[in-house]
Amino acid sequence: MALINEHFLKLPGNYLFQDIAKRVKAYKVSHPKKRVISLGIGDVTRPLCPAVIEAMHKAVEEMATQATFRGYGPERGYDFLREAIIKNDYLTRGVHLDKDEIFVNDGAKSDTGNIQEIVRWDNNIGVTDPIYPVYIDSNVMIGRAGVFENGKWSNVAYMPCTAENDFVPQIPDHRVDMIYLCYPNNPTGTVLRKEELRKWVNYALRNDSIIFYDAAYEAYIQDEDIPHSIYEIRGARKVAIEFRSYSKTAGFTGVRCGYTVVPKELTASTIDGRRIALNQIWDRRQSTKFNGTSYISQRAAEAIYTPEGKEQVKATIAYYMENACIMRTELTKLGFQVFGGENAPYLWVKTPNNTPSWKFFEEMLYGASVVCTPGVGFGPSGEGYVRLTSFGEREDCIEAMKRIKEWIG
Ligand SMILES: *Cc1c(COP(=O)(O)O)cnc(C)c1O
Repeated sequence: MALINEHFLKLPGNYLFQDIAKRVKAYKVSHPKKRVISLGIGDVTRPLCPAVIEAMHKAVEEMATQATFRGYGPERGYDFLREAIIKNDYLTRGVHLDKDEIFVNDGAKSDTGNIQEIVRWDNNIGVTDPIYPVYIDSNVMIGRAGVFENGKWSNVAYMPCTAENDFVPQIPDHRVDMIYLCYPNNPTGTVLRKEELRKWVNYALRNDSIIFYDAAYEAYIQDEDIPHSIYEIRGARKVAIEFRSYSKTAGFTGVRCGYTVVPKELTASTIDGRRIALNQIWDRRQSTKFNGTSYISQRAAEAIYTPEGKEQVKATIAYYMENACIMRTELTKLGFQVFGGENAPYLWVKTPNNTPSWKFFEEMLYGASVVCTPGVGFGPSGEGYVRLTSFGEREDCIEAMKRIKEWIG
């Protein structure tokens, strides 16, 4: 008899976006004349830039002739892309990486979810709260998270990030084996300064922990002194794995390409005390379970690093960041407490008078026909906040702010 992996049954349904859709639908049915504007979209909306399109067309043409056709590619990714990554994403920030430390993938979700396979099942986990749900759920699936009680997993250390602590997670007072950090943060849109990130690296060095650093929104950083990579911190190569993605950087959510950095200096212990390089383990895992990212997607990603590609990608990000700036300015004027939105495409807004997230969601939907994402959907510390995204159309952003003003006024 085949028995199922019952850890899957422990997962509470991830109904956040279905719930939102259901409530929006109910509103639309009772208000057929109102045009609803969504500031809840978690996906990019601007098209791929011309440099990327051109590279993809060219790659398709290559696939069409015998002489230039490509089948399976190298598992870690093509050299042309890994070299462009090292040169443009890291050398420019003073970080020297070797080609074999870069693993090209089909996006950051896969690897942030899969990475936990390479550590023992009984390691414990630390996460910032609120959080991108993939980190916890992937650990639940193999039984590492413990049991779910009162909105929390018993074997997960939650590090609250709220207005009270300026969204800086406190270093745990006990040992945590695996720590997930995401900066710039989804959902709060906040960043971590170098001094703060250094504390985490030092904590990991002292406790022999591993940091999984999700830098999917790195391209949105505007302030000079905010680190783009955890490897800008001394010692991080010994303790951190970094995830990058072209999804939010260049609109690749439908193309699929990203990469993971596993430094060769990063080791973890066996139960009898031998140190093993995780680069070698991750390589073994990937070559068994992953057969590479499509050639076309990798050529598309390479095009982002050309002078034209860089210009065009920057312009798209500037468009989203201008949306963020408009929303931030208007909402602040209206008296809202607004966080994020300066180095990230997300705004994290405190609900007035501690209104619960879902209640505020309903009030704004019925009062202004504007959709947000209830913060509590990202974890217990998200209660009393909502997330707004800057991924929409400019006119919609402006119109939404006008409506919120009328509603509040
Ligand atoms: C969108 C997002 C990703 C990237 O996902 P892809 O699989 O690369 O599309 C990773 N981490 C966070 C926190 C995200 O919001």
